[in-house]
Amino acid sequence: MEKKAIYFDHAATTPVCQEALQKMIPYFTDVFGNPNSQHAFGRESAKAVDEARDEIASIINAKPSEVYFTSGGTESDNWALRGIAHAHKDKGNHIVISPIEHAAMLVTAKALEKEGFKIDYMKVDSQGFVDLQHLKSIVGEGTILVGCMMANNEVGTIEPIKEIAEIAHSVGAYCFTDAVQAAGVLKLDVKELGVDLMSMSSHKIYGPKGVGALYVRNGVKIGSILTGGHQERMKRGGTTNVPAIVGFGEAFKIANRDLDKNFEYVSSLRDHFIDRVLNEVPFVKLNGPRQNRLPANADFSFEFIEGESILFSLDLAGICVSSGSACSSGSLEPSHVLLALGLEEALAHGSIRFSFGKHNTMEEVDYAVETIKSAVQRLRDMSPLFKAQGDIKYV
Ligand code: PLP
Repeated sequence: MEKKAIYFDHAATTPVCQEALQKMIPYFTDVFGNPNSQHAFGRESAKAVDEARDEIASIINAKPSEVYFTSGGTESDNWALRGIAHAHKDKGNHIVISPIEHAAMLVTAKALEKEGFKIDYMKVDSQGFVDLQHLKSIVGEGTILVGCMMANNEVGTIEPIKEIAEIAHSVGAYCFTDAVQAAGVLKLDVKELGVDLMSMSSHKIYGPKGVGALYVRNGVKIGSILTGGHQERMKRGGTTNVPAIVGFGEAFKIANRDLDKNFEYVSSLRDHFIDRVLNEVPFVKLNGPRQNRLPANADFSFEFIEGESILFSLDLAGICVSSGSACSSGSLEPSHVLLALGLEEALAHGSIRFSFGKHNTMEEVDYAVETIKSAVQRLRDMSPLFKAQGDIKYV
């Protein structure tokens, strides 16, 4: 069999952990009842969903009645944004978000703009941190929601959400955070953070895909986007995905139990990797900060090379990573995150995201560094732009 590829793309998704998988299995076959059914099968499924809800609520310091299950981060982001906008349009039409949000937020905000909402974007600095003074200057009467991700999926920047929530509340707006990359990785306490709404997703933390949750603080009025049955306390219609919810609850429990251990281990891989790449590859830029960065994330721009070419070279060597730029409708767009951080287009095209996981090893990291060094040198040797720089020594 082909040698197993090395997976450094945990920010995209993770494998389901054994604990979650084993816990889910009976809910596909034996305990298959609809939790809304008024009989023994239904009650057994409902009990499992309640347990997962209790688990997640207790980890984020919320009440179970504040946790709503969804199909994942995208739905949670859509729901938070549209649900607050539509329920509070009598109070105002102004929404502020960051320019480095996930597409689930950015595209939804654009759609709301077409409906007549005014969307403003808070500034971020060259490492991706929100400029709090700028945020203060753009919120005011009529601002109904301030939305900012807890941690950026591309460059790993961890945002000052507590301060952002305070600014939102000072003008009577709600604060929403997309914690899809942070939940299960960082300690999150919704009360301490002061957020009113928070998105979470299961497949980023060794749980199954297609399930997530939205925390909505009790007392916050929110509209629905999925209308239908009475599920999720009349707020989100659709037959409950019991096995996925059970898996999500278990994965979150394990992630929380091992949080410190995983943080330390994964960040040691990342730091070793960043240090080696910065020391051994010339003309490379680390995107995002060194401090207040997601433990798994390392994102680099390689000058004179397209991110895609490195990605393909690494893929050929059995290393799976992700490129910051999105290939849309046949044309390669530079990363909107890197452009917001002030990178020029060429560098925003040349970025590669490495996101490590708990099963990765230091040997894999070292192998990646050696592979990057030879791939970068080979690609640059073919680049007329690079040749114009003169002789570069590779260590
Ligand atoms: N928000 C962020 C920050 C993400 O990184 C992602 C997924 O990559 C999402 C939202 C969407 O989550 P999901 O894949 O669960 O729909």
